[in-house]
Amino acid sequence: MTPDKYLTKKAKSLHPYVAGLQPQEPGWIKLNTNENPYPPSPKVNEILRSVDTMSLRLYPPGDGGLLRQTITASLIPNPTTEHQNSQQPGAPSVFCGNGSDEVLALAFQAFFSGKSNIHTPDISYGFYPVWGAMYDVGLNYIPVEEDFSINPAKYSGGNGVIIANPNAPTSLAAGLGAIEDILKQNPNGVVLVDEAYIDFANMPSAVALLPKYENLLVVRTFSKSHALAGMRVGYAIGHPRLIDALHLMKESFNSYPLDILAQKAAAAAFSDTAYLASTVEKVIATRDRTIAALAHLGYKTLPSQANFILINIGERAEELYEHLLANKILARYWNKPRIAGFLRVTIGTDEEMEVFISCVKQW
Ligand SMILES: *Cc1c(COP(=O)(O)O)cnc(C)c1O
Repeated sequence: MTPDKYLTKKAKSLHPYVAGLQPQEPGWIKLNTNENPYPPSPKVNEILRSVDTMSLRLYPPGDGGLLRQTITASLIPNPTTEHQNSQQPGAPSVFCGNGSDEVLALAFQAFFSGKSNIHTPDISYGFYPVWGAMYDVGLNYIPVEEDFSINPAKYSGGNGVIIANPNAPTSLAAGLGAIEDILKQNPNGVVLVDEAYIDFANMPSAVALLPKYENLLVVRTFSKSHALAGMRVGYAIGHPRLIDALHLMKESFNSYPLDILAQKAAAAAFSDTAYLASTVEKVIATRDRTIAALAHLGYKTLPSQANFILINIGERAEELYEHLLANKILARYWNKPRIAGFLRVTIGTDEEMEVFISCVKQW
């Protein structure tokens, strides 16, 4: 006897995204989900402590309200807060969601669902294939080069493109020139650039290209560089018509996905640009030291532009993963073509990375 008969065909067919382990007990060195080892901005602490709980009686601004305005004002020279009938046609607009995972899922529904020939690299964020299956998207996987870089010449004539830049788990970034080449070759579809790690890269955001390309959608998150993974906030920036489409999708599904505490916390974190710069700088310095220490032990690491590194371990990669696990260090290992010889390791504090390096050394 099985209650399977009550499930839809789709519910029976899904293979959900498998995230890295989130142990709840203390004592772990957690280098498996690219979280930030440092606390969020002290302004987040201030704003959350000052919350009047009476305000929690009311529904939050459904469009991300305050947070949208904060982001819009900073990123865009001529801000538009209306998502319809904009006073300044062409000025980009902002959509806020419950983590960039939600923003990406809504973008798949708004721009890619039911379409074929949507280009995406064969090594990239493991959630893209899951949404592809969920929303009937014909993903066209384009192999990354031998060195795991993206070759823009291979991305032509699609009905859409999805790329993470810097890419995960490769940690490599394509320059703005490469992104622009991809935009030029794909005028008939939305080119979605997932910039979850852009703050750790030494290149400008694709936001700079928005005035020239109405089909560009840039997606960002507060989970990595702003240390707010637990708050679940992400956003998209793009042409007002694309942003409208995301609002239509959201309002047809869940009107208030982004709670008021998350909106306040994210706005406070976003405005504290000095704090962001200082933590990002620390992570980058630790990243470069870790890569050098691994090189000293004979391990090659891809030239990372993110807050994680992809280390070439070779045939015994899974064995090292297990060894680290036994020593309460969590890394990420995938038994998948092309990356089975690698471990992905998030950059923690200097102290955490020293423990990690000595564990590798001992092994
Ligand atoms: C972490 C990550 C996300 C998801 O971020 P959330 O905002 O926490 O949902 C999206 N894209 C990539 C490439 C990521 O690595």
